[in-house]
Amino acid sequence: MGKCCFCEVETCDSWHSYYCAKCHKLKRVIHLFSIDKVMNIVENVLIVNEEQQEENMKEELKTELTTRASTIRKCKKNKELKSIE
Ligand SMILES: [Zn+2]
Repeated sequence: MGKCCFCEVETCDSWHSYYCAKCHKLKRVIHLFSIDKVMNIVENVLIVNEEQQEENMKEELKTELTTRASTIRKCKKNKELKSIE
């Protein structure tokens, strides 16, 4: 059996099928709730979360960089003080 035409990851669930079992289930969900509703959930839950994760990572990097910068500044000050003494 070939690869699923939709996800291109799983194997088709039968010889006469183009989709895997998971994508068949997704198809049924889309028919049950409408493509717009499913798309809305995917965009709001998965895609927004990914963007939020990126934002969180950026914030973490910023904090890390400012902490390092202040540590470097402190080290430099200490060196300057030692050279004066
Ligand atoms: Zn699939």
